[in-house]
Amino acid sequence: MSNPTPQPKKLFIKTYGCQMNVYDSDRMADALAPHGYMPVHEIADADLVVLNTCHIREKASEKVFSELGRLKELRAERQAAGLDLTIGVAGCVAQAEGEEIVRRVPDVDLVFGPQSYHRLPDLLARVDGARGLHAALRAPVVDTDFPEEDKFEHLPAPRKEVTVSRGLTAFLTVQEGCDKFCTFCVVPYTRGTEVSRPLAQVLEEARRLADAGVREITLLGQNVNAYHGLDGAGRPAGLGELCYRLSEIEGLARIRYTTSHPADMADELIEAHRDLGALMPYLHLPVQSGSDRILQAMNRKHTRQSYLELVARIRAARPDIALSGDFIVGFPGETDEDFEQTLSIAAEAGYASAFTFKYSPRPGTPASGLGGQVPEPVKVERLARLNAQIAAQTRSFAESCVGKVLPVLIEKKGRNPGQLGGRSPYLQAVHMDGPERLIGGIHPVEILALSNNSLSGRIVTVAERSSARVVESRPVPPCPATRSKGILSRHVPPPADNALSPQLELAFDDNRLAAQLYGDFDQNLALIEQRLSVQATPRGNHVMLKGAAQEVDQARRVLESLYELLEEGRAIDIANVDAVIRMVQSDDSQLTLPTLEKKGKVRMAQIATRKATIVARTPAQDAYMRAMDRAELVFGVGPAGTGKTYLAVAHAATLLERGDINRIILSRPAVEAGERLGFLPGDMKEKVDPYLRPLYDALYDMMKPEAVERGITSGIIEVAPLAFMRGRTLANAVVILDEAQNTTSMQMKMFLTRLGENSKMIVTGDPTQVDLPRGERSGLVEALGLLDGIEGIHISRFTDRDVVRHALVGRIVRAYEGATAKGDRAS
Ligand code: SAM
Ligand code: SF4
Repeated sequence: MSNPTPQPKKLFIKTYGCQMNVYDSDRMADALAPHGYMPVHEIADADLVVLNTCHIREKASEKVFSELGRLKELRAERQAAGLDLTIGVAGCVAQAEGEEIVRRVPDVDLVFGPQSYHRLPDLLARVDGARGLHAALRAPVVDTDFPEEDKFEHLPAPRKEVTVSRGLTAFLTVQEGCDKFCTFCVVPYTRGTEVSRPLAQVLEEARRLADAGVREITLLGQNVNAYHGLDGAGRPAGLGELCYRLSEIEGLARIRYTTSHPADMADELIEAHRDLGALMPYLHLPVQSGSDRILQAMNRKHTRQSYLELVARIRAARPDIALSGDFIVGFPGETDEDFEQTLSIAAEAGYASAFTFKYSPRPGTPASGLGGQVPEPVKVERLARLNAQIAAQTRSFAESCVGKVLPVLIEKKGRNPGQLGGRSPYLQAVHMDGPERLIGGIHPVEILALSNNSLSGRIVTVAERSSARVVESRPVPPCPATRSKGILSRHVPPPADNALSPQLELAFDDNRLAAQLYGDFDQNLALIEQRLSVQATPRGNHVMLKGAAQEVDQARRVLESLYELLEEGRAIDIANVDAVIRMVQSDDSQLTLPTLEKKGKVRMAQIATRKATIVARTPAQDAYMRAMDRAELVFGVGPAGTGKTYLAVAHAATLLERGDINRIILSRPAVEAGERLGFLPGDMKEKVDPYLRPLYDALYDMMKPEAVERGITSGIIEVAPLAFMRGRTLANAVVILDEAQNTTSMQMKMFLTRLGENSKMIVTGDPTQVDLPRGERSGLVEALGLLDGIEGIHISRFTDRDVVRHALVGRIVRAYEGATAKGDRAS
C-alpha cells in the first residue's frame, strides 16, 4: 500500500522592521515550501507561526513579546480543538535575546538567528522530534550561531510562479552585517560583520527575478554600499560595478539600493548614477545628525561638511537625484544647538524625504551607557519639529514634480475602477487612469496634482511623447551587433536552460520615431505580441523580443518595416501594423516592407484622404484598391469585416477631394426601412437614416466632420436608400451600393443602369447573408453570375482570411461557412 500524501502544513510569517526582514521572510517561505509548508493569510489558520523580528529600537522588540502573549492563547485554543501550533522567533531579537526568549515565553518552540534560515527545515524536524519525547526531556530549539557555510548557497530558489505572484518589484539582499559600529546601533551585534554575496550569485538571482517578470530590484544590505562581492577572478566588486552588471539584464528596468553609509559612497557608484538610466535617481543616505559633536559621539565617520560635499558630488553626477535619509533626535548629550544644526542640515542637503527617530538606548551598545540622556519630552518635541520640517520639504519636492512628465512603473490596479498605481523614479506613489494591460510597463505620466502621500497624473500619448521632458533611457551595452539604417539589432544569448527562447534587442536611433512605432499605450507592440506570440518589451528606444526563433524574426521584420515607413515620413496606425504583420507572415524573404515595395514584389496600395491614410492590409484589399483605380464598375464581395465598404468610401472621398468627381452617392437597399417599418414615427429621412448609419460612419472616418456636413447640406454627398436611385443618371460621381445581396434582381438591374459619364460604381455585399422576403433571388448573386468577365467590370472576392476586424470575426465567419458547407452536403 502506498503512503497517503502528507497534508500541506500552513505557514504564517509575521514580519517586523526593515526591507531586509521582508526579503528574509520570503526566503524562509521558499526554504519551507519543498517541505510542504504553504503560506496562509490568517494567523489563526497556521500550523507554524514565525515572528521575524527587529531589535533596532526598544519599541520594535517589545512588540514581539506582546505578540508572543497572543500566540500563547492561540496555541491553547487550537490545542482545545485538537490542533497544534508551532511558534518560532527569527530575526534580530532572536539573535540578540536567544535563550532569554524561551525563558520569558516557554511556549516558544524555536528561536533562530538571521544566519540560520537555510537550516529551518532541519530545526523544525528537531522541534517535531522533541514533541515525541517525555515532557521532562523536551527543550525548545535555539540556534543563533553564525555558521561557516554560506546561507544563500543553501537557500532554495522559489518556483517561478511564486516569484511571479510576488509582483513586479523585488528585494534582493546582496550584503549583510555592518562593521561601522555606530555607538547607538545594535546591527553589528545582531547581524554580525559585513559579508557580501559573490557577484555571480547576485546576478543569477537578479536574472531569475527578471525572467519572472520583475521590472525593479532593490538591492539590500545593512550597509549596502560597502558591498564587495567577489567576481569570478576572486577580485572584490563594488556596488557600482554590480549596478553596471545588473543594468545589462534584459527586462530589468530599474535598480535601487538601500541603506548606504556616507563613508562608503565610492566614485564608481557615483559614476553609475551618472551613466545608468536604470539606476534610479533616488538615494537613501542617512546622516543621523547635523552636529559634528554628536556625529563624533555616534562614531559616524563623517562630518557635517564632508556629508554636504558628498551630496554636492552626487548631485553633480545626477542633478535630479532625490535625497532621502535617517535622523536620530535626542542622542545622549544633544543640546538645543546641536538639534538646530540637525534642522539646518536637513534644509541645506535638500532632502526629498526622510525617516526620523527618537534615540532609543539599546542594551550592549556604547551609547546606552553614556551620560547626558535626553529627557523623553525633549525628544518628543524635537522629533515633532523635525517631522514638520521634513514634511514641508517632501511636499515642496512633490510640488516641483507637478507639470513634469515622469516615467512611471505601473505596478497594479488603483483603488478606483479604471485607475492604475505605480511609482515615479523618486519612489513616489503615482495614480493615473489607463487600461490594465499597461501594468508592468514604464510609461510617461504628466504629473497633474499631489494629494497627501501620492501624485496623480495622466499617461502621455504617443503624439505628445516627443515633447516629454523626462524619458528613461539606457545606453546600449557594447556587443556584436548589426546595424541597418537607424536600427541596431543584437542577439542576446538565451539562458542556458531555455534554448527555445531566443532574444533579440532592437535599438532605434530616433526616440521620437520609436515612440510612434510603439503606438499609444504601446498598442502596436501589444498587437505584435498577440499576433506573433512573442514578448516585446520596450525600454526607451530599445525593444527586446523574446519567443520562438521564427516568431522573433517575424516580429523583427515587422518592427523594422514599420520603422522604415516612419523614417520615410509615412504615418502608421494600428491598421498598418496589422497589414505589415500579415505581409510578413505571408512572405518569407528577409526583406522589409519598404524594400519589397521598392523591388515591386509587394504592393501595399494606399488611399490617402485629407484625414486618414489607409494601407491595404491583405492581398485581396490590395487588389480591390487597385481595381477601384482602374475599373468603372467594381464588385467587392465576401464576409463582413473585410473592409469592402470602408475602402470604397475612402476611395470616393479621395476622388472628391482631388476634384476628379463632384458627387458621392452612398446607397443601401433599405427594404425594411422603406417597406416593413413604414409605421415608424418621423419623416422619411428620420426613418431611413439609422439604416444608412454605417455609410455615414465610414464618411466621418475619411473626411473632416465639417466637410461631410457641408457636402450633405449642399447635396455633394448623398446618403440615400436604393429606391431613390430610380430614374436618375448618376454622372461625375462615385456611387456605392452597400449590402447589395439584399437587392432584388430588378433593383440591381435598375441600379447598375444608372451609371453615367465619368462615374464609377462600387457594389459591395456578402452573398451568404441574403435577407430578402419570400426567399427571393438576390440581385447581387445574379449579377455576379451574369457580369463576370465583361470588360470594365472587376470582381474582388474576399474570404475569411481578409477579415480585418477583431480576430474572432474571422473565426466566426469560418464556423458559419463550415456549417453551411456541411448543410449543403447533407441536403
Ligand atoms: N546602515 C544604516 C546607516 O548607516 O545609517 C542604518 C541602518 S539602521 C537599521 C536604520 C536606522 O535606524 C538608522 O539609520 C538610524 O537612524 C536608526 N537607528 C538605529 N539605531 C537606533 C537607535 N538606537 N535609536 C534610534 N534610532 C536608531
Ligand atoms: Fe548601524 Fe548603519 Fe551604523 Fe552600521 S552603519 S552601525 S547599520 S547605523
